[in-house]
Amino acid sequence: MKSYTEYLWFCTEKRIEFINITEKVEEVVKKSGVKEGLCLVNAMHITSSVFINDDEEGLHSDFLDFLEKLAPHQPISKYRHNLTGETNADAHLKRTIMGREVVVAITNGKLDLGPWEQIFYGEFDGQRRKRVLIKIIGE
Ligand code: ZN
Repeated sequence: MKSYTEYLWFCTEKRIEFINITEKVEEVVKKSGVKEGLCLVNAMHITSSVFINDDEEGLHSDFLDFLEKLAPHQPISKYRHNLTGETNADAHLKRTIMGREVVVAITNGKLDLGPWEQIFYGEFDGQRRKRVLIKIIGE
């Protein structure tokens, strides 16, 4: 069995951003040489996510509205986590809602995604360097 590991780095301009990383993950799959296997992609920070969904602007705005309703950034003082001096309690909650990782099958050397499935990095407390792990195993 082969295994291959690579890290993607992000430093977003905005506090909250969704970035389509499908092509980057596809490149890593190619580099790995794995034809049949599994590809794990996970955020390595507790205020960012990796998730799969449609690359459609309206939907992304809907996600942002939905997350802001469930875990509004303001008022910062309403969160116990922020009593530690942090201001990112909402980002921890948003990350948990959107998920930590995805696992995608590799078939014939390619990500075996559904017709509209795209892989996204979801940042909820950005403007600093953060990592995503890609781990590929297979033959
Ligand atoms: Zn925190």
